[in-house]
Amino acid sequence: MSDTKLNAALAAYAHLVLKSGCNLQPGQELFLSASTDSVEFARLLTAEAYALGARHVTVRFGDEKIARLHYENCALDVFETFPEWQALLNNSMALGGAAVLSVISDDPKALVGVDQAKLVANARASHVACKPFYDCLDQGKAVWCIVAAAAPAWAQQVFPSLDARAATEKLWQAILAAVRVDTPDPVAAWAQHRESFNERKAWLNAQHFDSLHYTNSLGTDLTVGLNKLGIWQGGGDVTVEGREFFPNMPTEEIFTTPDLSRAEGVVYSSMPLIHYGSPVEDFSMRFEGGKVVECQARVGQDVLEAIFTVDEGAAHLGECALVPWGSPIQKSGILFYNTLFDENAACHLAVGQGFPDCLEGGQQMEEEELKAHGVNKSATHVDFMMGTEDLEVIGIKADGSRVPIFRGGAWAT
Ligand code: ZN
Repeated sequence: MSDTKLNAALAAYAHLVLKSGCNLQPGQELFLSASTDSVEFARLLTAEAYALGARHVTVRFGDEKIARLHYENCALDVFETFPEWQALLNNSMALGGAAVLSVISDDPKALVGVDQAKLVANARASHVACKPFYDCLDQGKAVWCIVAAAAPAWAQQVFPSLDARAATEKLWQAILAAVRVDTPDPVAAWAQHRESFNERKAWLNAQHFDSLHYTNSLGTDLTVGLNKLGIWQGGGDVTVEGREFFPNMPTEEIFTTPDLSRAEGVVYSSMPLIHYGSPVEDFSMRFEGGKVVECQARVGQDVLEAIFTVDEGAAHLGECALVPWGSPIQKSGILFYNTLFDENAACHLAVGQGFPDCLEGGQQMEEEELKAHGVNKSATHVDFMMGTEDLEVIGIKADGSRVPIFRGGAWAT
């Protein structure tokens, strides 16, 4: 791709992100977070936001190398307190009606070897201090969107045989293809993409499954209970005020929030998990009564164990998502080492925070009521891929009847 062609594609991407992802309105504020690796793209987004009539754009940059220096040099108690000004910024932006846009470009290994206790402390402290911010997002009061930008360290993990420049360009191409910027009218393509989820969602919602049974040749044999008032979502989100947006771009999943207290059996990972810049590979978890009671990893055992120590909810499920084998991202054959992409390549589960909007009336419920209906609450939410080419998913109804949902890794019907 020539530089001019890439620049034109990036401008189209910035437009798509703000128009379809954030559904940015004239006069609205934009709160943009990005890494110092993506300064150019952040400038492009800022310019495009103003072109669309944004009232003001607040940009906050993070830097992974500086973050690593903090973790290496500061004592644990530093991470137990979240900076007040930072909480004030996050909370006031979300409460003030800004669209919250995050551009990620993380180096998958940025924080390898960092003390997991500090990362856990930081996640906990941020969750407490920024509660109004997270509540706005979880309860459909704020529009939010996570998208990716290519950066050299990440790109060279994905394409290790290429030099930094070539790898970054190739990663940009993969990102742009995954978000359909290579189509003539990306905004229209996303509107159509949203529609394409409706039939399957309607079918799943009409089945009222009581549980899902997953099996495959890796050894997965897991039954996950679903909530009575549960709803399957996918292909974008909508605020309580009815404004459509896409929390993640790309997105290929149909998902719900399972019963936090009902999961039995074993699940094996099918792809590596990168958690806060540390890899976990070839791992399994055993659930009893909805809780992880045992876990094993060939790589990153300490990272995996630390996930479940964040809080009570961290050892219970918050999401189960259906993504057929053969999805565009899986077909690209690229392992992105990034959940935003890899979760759209395979069926997955997540431990931690559940989704109130995956429960009928959930966005109007308080925390305790949500929990009583089976929606998990946690300071963390960690997706892990478990879908394979031979995954079978059976929906089990309350009367015990069994309906195939996935056969041979893809939709049975
Ligand atoms: Zn997901």
